[in-house]
Amino acid sequence: MDLINCPYCNLQAHTKYRYTEIVLCGYCKTPILRNKKNTLQIKPAAKPEEFKFDLIDKSFVYNNQHYKITGYIRYFYTEGYLYQWAAYNHNTYVWLCESLGNWFVLLPEKEFENINVSKLSVNTIFSYKGDEYTVNELSLFYNYYMEGELPDFTYTQTKGMSIECSSKNKLIQFNVLENNQIEMYTGEHVYFKDLNINLR
Ligand SMILES: [Zn+2]
Repeated sequence: MDLINCPYCNLQAHTKYRYTEIVLCGYCKTPILRNKKNTLQIKPAAKPEEFKFDLIDKSFVYNNQHYKITGYIRYFYTEGYLYQWAAYNHNTYVWLCESLGNWFVLLPEKEFENINVSKLSVNTIFSYKGDEYTVNELSLFYNYYMEGELPDFTYTQTKGMSIECSSKNKLIQFNVLENNQIEMYTGEHVYFKDLNINLR
């Protein structure tokens, strides 16, 4: 565990998890961005009314790796929502996501190859690492709520567009943020019951 100086309540607190970039002050429960030099307070939206799962601290196995869930981001879309649960295996993480009852696992991807993301629209077809993907949907998110401890992400950009693309059994999601920064995730659909999460 690491000791942090909380910029919000000015107390020193131990963080719960060693590898996350966003940590939670043990006293005032404020999410704080941790990096080598300083800590910054994050101001997410108000907590949404609906809450169907509490998976924080739960574990699951994916691709023979054991993951522990440390927190989540809940994106507010103009139609619907997306929960992204951060799940760590030592210092690597995946996002376990749920949207309207569908579950999938996404991994952050740095290598965009030559995809021109600004040119993508519904039904555009493009290839990525040998697979052909179709753009299924473009959706706008206008805020997010977060809880727990998380990987670093572009927490200052609360508005943007998600572009969902699918191949046979693979998924790509792009998030295009207000400042035109682009995040890319790759992944696949999973069945919640296959993850064998002990909900008790
Ligand atoms: Zn604090």
